[in-house]
Amino acid sequence: MQGLMQHGALTVDKIIDHAAQWHGSREIVTRSVEGPIVRTTYGAIRDRAKRVSNALLSLGIKPGDRVATLAWNTGRHMEAWYGIMGIGAVCHTLNPRLFPEQIAWIADHAGDRVLFTDLTFLPIVAAILPKVPSIEHVVVFTDGQHMPAFAPASEAPHFKGVHCFETLVDSHGADCAWGGFDEGTAAGLCYTSGTTGDPKGVMYSHRSNFLHTFITLQPDVMGLSQRDTILPVVPMFHANAWGVAFSAPATGCKMVLPGAKMDGASIYELLDSEGVTFSAAVPTVWQMLLQHLRDNDLKLPVLKKVVIGGAACPEHIIRAFQEDYDVEVVHAWGMTETSPVGTLSVLTDELVKLPYDQQMPYRLKQGRPPLGVELKLTDDAGQRLPHDGKSFGNLKIKGPTIAGAYFRGAGGNILDDEGFFDTGDVATIDGHGFMQITDRAKDVVKSGGEWISTIEIENIAAGHPKAALAAVIGVPHPKWDERPILLIKLKDGETATREEFLEFLQGKIAKWWMPDDVLFVDDIPLGATGKIDKKLIRQRLKDYVLP
Ligand code: ADP
Repeated sequence: MQGLMQHGALTVDKIIDHAAQWHGSREIVTRSVEGPIVRTTYGAIRDRAKRVSNALLSLGIKPGDRVATLAWNTGRHMEAWYGIMGIGAVCHTLNPRLFPEQIAWIADHAGDRVLFTDLTFLPIVAAILPKVPSIEHVVVFTDGQHMPAFAPASEAPHFKGVHCFETLVDSHGADCAWGGFDEGTAAGLCYTSGTTGDPKGVMYSHRSNFLHTFITLQPDVMGLSQRDTILPVVPMFHANAWGVAFSAPATGCKMVLPGAKMDGASIYELLDSEGVTFSAAVPTVWQMLLQHLRDNDLKLPVLKKVVIGGAACPEHIIRAFQEDYDVEVVHAWGMTETSPVGTLSVLTDELVKLPYDQQMPYRLKQGRPPLGVELKLTDDAGQRLPHDGKSFGNLKIKGPTIAGAYFRGAGGNILDDEGFFDTGDVATIDGHGFMQITDRAKDVVKSGGEWISTIEIENIAAGHPKAALAAVIGVPHPKWDERPILLIKLKDGETATREEFLEFLQGKIAKWWMPDDVLFVDDIPLGATGKIDKKLIRQRLKDYVLP
């Protein structure tokens, strides 16, 4: 027997419609790429997004067509975002931090027809256009006054021209029918950064984005409220700004968008002047902010909560936020394939009663899955492993917000017999249900047949007062197969010895996890989403031999 409730397709146009109708005057504040702070509202964003839809229809965009954005977090990006999705086209966020050849490869693979971009990225656009024959139009997120004479050479037979965003918006009406399609329709496309093999396209549906929004709004997940002011530092091209591009309008909270400037001083200025209560970013961004606060003796009286994810959050960042600035840290794990929220280290009733120092091991873990996300841990044969906090295994995940296949069938069948997706992460799950990532499967160090968690060593080493960044990789060893070595980038002006760091680790990690060497380096390379690029480190150290 069927239930008798209305169906109501879960399409994301309803999210911005809701924001415009019920929170229409709530502000969206942007540090514009042109410089000044600009203010708009959910009402205006919805109106202008409809004009974008009409502009796209006039350019010949049809449902299912891919429309790319190569852009910072701004109000205009939000308008393009909803304007694209509202008519059933697919918003393909490109990551400008990738190399131009990678961006071109991805845009070509996606078959993008229109590309929206910021002034910042015109050199990249000029470089990629000749390699992406599918692109017909480029739209520059700016006004007539700032519109440059940009006439890229494109050998693409279909290339028709460059448009100014404001001129395009002004020349179309706001009357456009949105939605009306199946909720399984594709809404967004985001490629994983391809640390293994070619980048692969994750194709979000309207339904998966809508459900992900409900999931993130649970109080034990991100728990965003209408009364919050949120500053997503995490870019919209990094898995939908962790869903904030949907969850903020869904609640009607005020949004503050940082545009091109994500250094400590610029972020602090916005946090302070706009009364931000809630923010989200990868650990490296917070590291820069905390340094800026210390150097300038600043406080954060209004900020209440930060979500930190994308890479393991070191203890010193959690402690600094909580102890020095009274800001709650929610450590989260996820990936492009998981929309991205997978788990969060929100303490349970039992754990929150423990003394603060005893809570710390749990805050450092990646945490528990919310309703809507299923997890399991297996050995290489696919057998489930116990949740004893000790058994290391492959982390697998399932649910309506998790990828079921990649775009154009890349990678073939990616689900196991029970429909779980293998994350490529190695993890443990403890008796409280707290999952802990010990490594990416490809970064794990296997010494004498046993796994060593590089993440755990890095997190402890990064807490040394002289360390700016720490990375651990495995290097070949004649007896143990592999041994870990520690790379340290020191804070400006500091000097240190190998012994100082080894002593610092003593007693904090198992003896046989102790790195065989400590190298002081000028630079620890970060990848396109702000994570330590171990592939590049391994390449740089390919001739390294243990002392
Ligand atoms: P990509 O996999 O393409 O590099 P993602 O942004 O999707 O880009 O990265 C997902 C991966 O990032 C996860 O599989 C995991 O290895 C790592 N990651 C994300 N959040 C955390 C976290 N809180 N702690 C440790 N690792 C994390």
